[in-house]
Amino acid sequence: MGSYEENYLDKRPQSLCHMCGKCCRVVTTSTPYETLKKMAEENDKGAIDFLSIFVPYESIEAARQADSEVVDNIINRLSEDGNYIEDETTFYCCKYLQDDNLCSNYENRPVLCRHCPSSPWSIVPPGCGFEGWLFWKREEEKEKIRRAKEELLELKLLKKRKNSPETLQKIEAVEQKILRNIDMYKKYGSENW
Ligand code: SF4
Ligand code: SF4
Repeated sequence: MGSYEENYLDKRPQSLCHMCGKCCRVVTTSTPYETLKKMAEENDKGAIDFLSIFVPYESIEAARQADSEVVDNIINRLSEDGNYIEDETTFYCCKYLQDDNLCSNYENRPVLCRHCPSSPWSIVPPGCGFEGWLFWKREEEKEKIRRAKEELLELKLLKKRKNSPETLQKIEAVEQKILRNIDMYKKYGSENW
């Protein structure tokens, strides 16, 4: 199977980043700001890291003034997936981003920056150097799920043969593993791939 690092992070060509700073200037999270603050109080490392660098914009309009294209891209993408709730959405800017778009905290930047874009389905700013690469990574994942579905069909045929109870049990265990894997991608639409 391989780890997240082996399968994704280590393969990500960092040279694709052309250092426009857009992903540091306008950012949002799926977790509302108030919840993030509570999580940080309860020592959640991810929330603490996030709030240690990102400062909220006063309003969505204020974020639009910083970069309306990025704000609207995020809102559109979240809306397409039915995940945009205006009242619960806060945009942030990193306090370490310099006017020349470079990071003044580069050597000490938290893990969330080192992992960004952290998944093939990450929402990146329009024109981000990773756009094309992320597209191909998504296609690779889809291909894996299509192959897994073919394996399921083969297992279904196998189950129709005369099997011992032990063999049947093993086949069903493999089936369950494959189904769990497909289910992990459900939020991205794996049922239709
Ligand atoms: S938006 Fe993309 S290209 Fe720009 S700094 Fe972020 S990762 Fe690099
Ligand atoms: S710490 Fe640096 S890399 Fe991370 S968001 Fe801020 S400016 Fe960007």
